[in-house]
Amino acid sequence: MVLALAVAGCDARTTSTPGLAVTATIYPLAEFARRSGGAPVNVHTLIPPGVEAHDYEPTLKDLAALSRARLFIYNGAGFEPWVERLLPQLAEGTLRVNATEDLPLVRGDGGVDPHVWLDPVLAQQQVERIFAALGRADPAGRSRYEANAAALRAALQALDADYRQVLQECRRKEFITAHAAFGYLARRYGLRVIAVSGLAPEAEPSASRVKEIVQQARRAGIRVVFVEPLGERRVAETIAREVGGTTAVLDPLESLTVEAQRAGKNYFTVMHENLDQLAQGLDCR
Ligand SMILES: [Zn+2]
Repeated sequence: MVLALAVAGCDARTTSTPGLAVTATIYPLAEFARRSGGAPVNVHTLIPPGVEAHDYEPTLKDLAALSRARLFIYNGAGFEPWVERLLPQLAEGTLRVNATEDLPLVRGDGGVDPHVWLDPVLAQQQVERIFAALGRADPAGRSRYEANAAALRAALQALDADYRQVLQECRRKEFITAHAAFGYLARRYGLRVIAVSGLAPEAEPSASRVKEIVQQARRAGIRVVFVEPLGERRVAETIAREVGGTTAVLDPLESLTVEAQRAGKNYFTVMHENLDQLAQGLDCR
């Protein structure tokens, strides 16, 4: 009997692929894959920590690492403009996962808005796509992935509930951010974003654009201007000074610095920090 169990245990280990190699382009998708996959899944984040994700282009070394992946997860919706060139170069056995496929995407200033992971409801749909792909790549591990993905979905539902509760009664509904990353989040919770630059962090906005934002901010009574952990703050500081306000950090989670990872931060801790910052900036009860 003991022997039979030991053999069964061995079988269970060998039938599910050990160390399923997954590459995800950006941090939040890597985090979702890691949590859905659990220990036997090896997740590599293509865009290195602390790198401005919009400006990234894969290097030859990245492409070599990618050739070993069984699963390649990308955000899509134009977030990785180089992905269309890369897909035909992937090995035939590599499963491709477009994490925004069939999601209700909206257009922003300058194209389709790709920042869906900042909406905890749409993030659940990204988890669905990732979980389904893990099950296709490794059918033997499917029930385990299902249980992990269900726990992850429950955590995202709780996060959504926290956002709804905190943001339901705020004195202000408008907030200023560095680039237009928070459109889906704002839409979900009945808020409105005024972005200094468009969907991608670009060159400095024109003086007339800055003047326009200052006027909007004054009209809306905005006193806090949100900046990002990466990226420049000079324009935001100028606007804050003009309205007699301050700056605060709102993290679009396109990347997580090594220091943040060492400090134990992850998607959920940063999303809660963002919620605290929003609650203060919007004067929520
Ligand atoms: Zn962005």
